[in-house]
Amino acid sequence: MKVLIDMIKLRAAMTQNPSLALPEALCYNSANTNGLKTIRELATFRFTCRRCEDAPCIGVCPADALEKDGDGIIMRHTNLCVSCKSCVTICPFGTMMTDFFMHHRNKDLLYDLCDHDEALKFVAACPPGTAMLTDQNEKPEEHVYQLNEKVLIREYIYTTEKE
Ligand code: SF4
Ligand code: SF4
Repeated sequence: MKVLIDMIKLRAAMTQNPSLALPEALCYNSANTNGLKTIRELATFRFTCRRCEDAPCIGVCPADALEKDGDGIIMRHTNLCVSCKSCVTICPFGTMMTDFFMHHRNKDLLYDLCDHDEALKFVAACPPGTAMLTDQNEKPEEHVYQLNEKVLIREYIYTTEKE
């Protein structure tokens, strides 16, 4: 069983209600987590970040908290990030949701998707239609992609020629 998170609908829900406190999904089995990361952050850097060659987000970060991994995917060192949001402001593509970099997250809204009961609670806590449990696999024709063994993401992804 996997959790399918619809990033397209989540963005729409946040646009409609910017003060919406979204539940956050965590998955410790995920590659490249490098500590506590939310699924939305991982999915955004993996699927929608344009992977700018000169990466202005890295250049502007005052804390050296951002770098590219071996696949050119941006990753954030949570222990270094000071939540200044300069990277959000400078990103020319508006890639990141502004709530990604909060230091003090509401623990009641954090759900570990590797735990089945928590995954159920996460789905129930999400805005209607934005998350579901499923047995399906990746379906690129429906914009559904696998983030890791537990999580599918629906997103309009950015791909490079290399991919
Ligand atoms: S929010 Fe964090 S990662 Fe982004 S520029 Fe500021 S310190 Fe760097
Ligand atoms: S500036 Fe934005 S699109 Fe470019 S690498 Fe950074 S996060 Fe990705």
